[in-house]
Amino acid sequence: MAHVISDECIVCGACLPECPVEAITEGEEKYVIDADLCTDCGACAEVCPVGAIEAEE
Ligand code: SF4
Repeated sequence: MAHVISDECIVCGACLPECPVEAITEGEEKYVIDADLCTDCGACAEVCPVGAIEAEE
């Protein structure tokens, strides 16, 4: 399980410094979460202004 960033991402960068395991990187059109690093803590989802980050089902 990991959190994922949807196409709603506006590349604002708010989530980047929030991740305690540095699983988030800037992709070409949106930020991306490395599923192998993500611990599902949810810190990034709380700061996303457009609600683009959710726990993967
Ligand atoms: Fe990082 Fe936590 Fe977001 Fe996973 S859920 S990408 S560990 S801040």
